[in-house]
Amino acid sequence: MSLYWTPAAWIEGRWQPSVVLEVDAQGRWSRVAAGEAAPAEAERLAGPALPGLVDAHSHAFQRAFAGLAERREGAGDDFWSWRDRMYRVAGAVTPESLRAIAAHLYVELLRGGYTQVCEFHYLQHQAGGAPYDDPLALSMALADAAGDAGIGLTLLPALYERAGFEAPALREDQRRFHAGADDVWQRAQAFERRVAAAGRAALVPLNAGLAIHSVRAAAGASIARLRELAHGFDGPIHVHVAEQRAEVADCIAATGRPPVAWLAAQGWLDARWQLVHATHVGADEIAATAASGAGVVICPTTEGNLGDGFTDVPAWLAADVELAVGSDSQVGRSWREELRWLEYGQRLRLERRNVAAEPARGAGPRPDTAASLFERARAGGGRAAGHARWGLEVGARADLLVVDPDDASLVGLPHARWLDALVFSSPSRPWRDVMVAGRWALRHHHHPQVERISANFARVMQALWAE
Ligand SMILES: [Zn+2]
Repeated sequence: MSLYWTPAAWIEGRWQPSVVLEVDAQGRWSRVAAGEAAPAEAERLAGPALPGLVDAHSHAFQRAFAGLAERREGAGDDFWSWRDRMYRVAGAVTPESLRAIAAHLYVELLRGGYTQVCEFHYLQHQAGGAPYDDPLALSMALADAAGDAGIGLTLLPALYERAGFEAPALREDQRRFHAGADDVWQRAQAFERRVAAAGRAALVPLNAGLAIHSVRAAAGASIARLRELAHGFDGPIHVHVAEQRAEVADCIAATGRPPVAWLAAQGWLDARWQLVHATHVGADEIAATAASGAGVVICPTTEGNLGDGFTDVPAWLAADVELAVGSDSQVGRSWREELRWLEYGQRLRLERRNVAAEPARGAGPRPDTAASLFERARAGGGRAAGHARWGLEVGARADLLVVDPDDASLVGLPHARWLDALVFSSPSRPWRDVMVAGRWALRHHHHPQVERISANFARVMQALWAE
């Protein structure tokens, strides 16, 4: 048991003063009490404390590509030409290099204020498509990387079996992604069994959910089969959906409906489902999502980088759908940047300010934009990772971000405006200390393994990109 005291903490959606926090032996909050004097035996935190957030959508291997796709190589450059170049990295990754790439990324995500990452995992086999002796070789590389960094991980093996609605098989450069419904189910179960047997989940929190790459990449019968296998399963089910207009048009041509409407019409969506991107959706699809209880994961820096378009944030907020954020292609690795661009995209689109602060219905208007977005991302992210509770409350995992009170951008600001400044005034290194499940992953900005992890990543990058 550990006891802490902080001058302010984010509890029940607002800053509360003079807070005592107690962690139990399982790494969960056993006491969260505001308005209390510091007990003599408590460690005083260096600054105000926020809950860590979940990175609800990550493809770790794409970190090796960040910053390397910003030159136009043909007459036009879009999502699909980016994807073909990204496959070059996907084709070259090994279990050893994936661990090095992911460990480096996960330390960056901790620095970005994330304490849990959902890995939407579709790298399954060797480069040519032959299976590894251990079907979990690449999954365990991600678990090892999470252990190296000290971040929580939700592994989401992805159903992936065809190149498009009218293509029954995968392309040559997609063969290492192949996984049918039974493969996905077995891998999720095997992953949880293996990390439990090895006692690894006691060192760093590890769990599994399920993913469907997209309605483009999986036949309806396979999605139905996965749902049948997952009857009674209470983990999350993630799916890429409606990220690109071409995908929506192909889905309408093949099924008569756009993707979210099609999923809803099958009666498949429920509160376990997370719709990733959901960029190009209609009002009826937003209503159907809200009625199902499913959540939405938005990845603003990636969607901006790929030229995806804008989702209708005010409509999602008005429908009271839970929103989470994700780093996806890893061009951004901080939730502050995701929340800022989530709001800025809407301001640019609508020519208004403080858009997320004004939901017309649902949870009711909040005057503060950052608090509105943060609360959605906190609750939505926790659920996207399969956690019933997420935040500074008794029973939730003891994850914590301690704000560095010496950061130049926070000096002189009243505490009540610190979350606004964290999102919209861009402190350089805002998180002095980061706790995951009761253990400190960063202390005084320092990660204990950072030199080794950076050196491994640099070596992998040199080998990948040697001319
Ligand atoms: Zn993705």
